[in-house]
Amino acid sequence: MRERILELERAARPLEPGSTRRRHLRNAAVASTERFLRKLATAPAYVEDDPGPGRGSIQGPAQYTGRLFDTPISEHGMPMHEAIDMLERDVVRPGGNPASGGYLAYIPGGGIYHSALGDFIAAVTNKYAGVSFAGPGAVRLENMLLRWTADLVGYPVGAAGNIASGGSIANLTAIATARDAHELNGADYARAVVYVTSQVHHSIDKALRIAGMQEVRVRHVAIDERYRMRADALAEAIAADRAAGLTPWLIIASAGTTDTGAVDPLDAIADVAWREQCWFHVDAAYGGFFLLTEHGRALMRGIERSDSVVLDPHKGMFLPYGAGIVIVRDAAALIRTHRYTGAYMQDAVPDDPADVSPADVSPELTKHFRALRMWLPLALLGTRPFTAALDEKLLLARYFREEIERAGFEVGPEPDLSVVTYRWAPQGASLDAANRRNRAIVENVRRDGRVFISSTMLDDRFTLRLAVLSFRTHLRTIDMALDVLRAEV
Ligand SMILES: *Cc1c(COP(=O)(O)O)cnc(C)c1O
Repeated sequence: MRERILELERAARPLEPGSTRRRHLRNAAVASTERFLRKLATAPAYVEDDPGPGRGSIQGPAQYTGRLFDTPISEHGMPMHEAIDMLERDVVRPGGNPASGGYLAYIPGGGIYHSALGDFIAAVTNKYAGVSFAGPGAVRLENMLLRWTADLVGYPVGAAGNIASGGSIANLTAIATARDAHELNGADYARAVVYVTSQVHHSIDKALRIAGMQEVRVRHVAIDERYRMRADALAEAIAADRAAGLTPWLIIASAGTTDTGAVDPLDAIADVAWREQCWFHVDAAYGGFFLLTEHGRALMRGIERSDSVVLDPHKGMFLPYGAGIVIVRDAAALIRTHRYTGAYMQDAVPDDPADVSPADVSPELTKHFRALRMWLPLALLGTRPFTAALDEKLLLARYFREEIERAGFEVGPEPDLSVVTYRWAPQGASLDAANRRNRAIVENVRRDGRVFISSTMLDDRFTLRLAVLSFRTHLRTIDMALDVLRAEV
């Protein structure tokens, strides 16, 4: 048996490359990312997909094509350079390029390099970040960053939170917490009411369903001409629901809607929430980190009065995808919904309340050590470059709006944050014709590829959007976007 065990050890040896082999692998990976970064400034922001003959067939093709999706996982693997070639061509290249400053669609992503190195260290050391007993430092680091974020929001001591994988899971965590804090059970759902606007992110509806609450009534509160919730309409809706015997439960405001970047009047909404004893959640997935700027703080006044809030570091902190923060004002409420234990956890001794474990405040147990990707850039750079970049984005959006209006486009409201809406509205054209024309503009711009924009429907109008949030989007990028768009009309 010993012989057989040692034989298996030898066969498994490739799992632990030695230092020479590690250097070879690392150099190849670094060389690939350096090639990527060197070309980034001139690389397209969007590349049409070309999946090749195999198109991901699991069985693989009859003959060798060198394409990733035609290459089944085999018993023996392939050389690193081949793997990297395939990745570059078949994965990194096609589709949007969220690392590009020209990516001005949806809500742009980030990808700061320091975070990549944080991820590298997190993966190599594989610290356990779910339970403080197993990884006290990793948990403390996460809690330290959550406290920093809570301070930014203006929450008092006694708040707790979690670095989840993104805003959707963060919203789900907050909604499940709000449900239990109001002691709602199945029998109550049909009478419970949630207040949002038509502009709320779809992850809210999804979260309500996953939380088992698809029967709750979702009221779309009236919005003003800048797509912001009207606090007076909110108060009226709640009064009407109470009179009808329903149970107003949850108010969800947006601090930066995805469509137009609108920030709901948080302070006025907080007044209503407080008076009506509703849970007040703020979805600041996109806009939250603008709290680092003076403009953002003034605009989001009242956010500190909410019960829970979501902010995405993979948006406003420019982190690579995979980080969304939820913070709940009352730690006990968050813990009540998420703390479970099992016999196999008996060695995980009770925590110091200051060391609350991620597993006790989120759906996850074992988790990626996400705090490191957020801490390393903040530790190395401080907050100043982030604040400057965010202020730059705010101004770039305003600059773009002025210039695109000058080019003859119809523009939406002055942006609250860094999303601009605009459309080509030719004189005398019908709504249908104008919509078709704007759709053609988005498609042409995407095919051109230098910049990548997206669109939405606002009051039945096909509307173009430009969202500035990449740390790589600068004045020259916006000038290029303007050139591309001017050439379309
Ligand atoms: C992006 C976004 C979400 C969803 O966050 P993910 O990180 O993509 O899961 C939710 N709400 C708003 C306002 C957003 O912009």
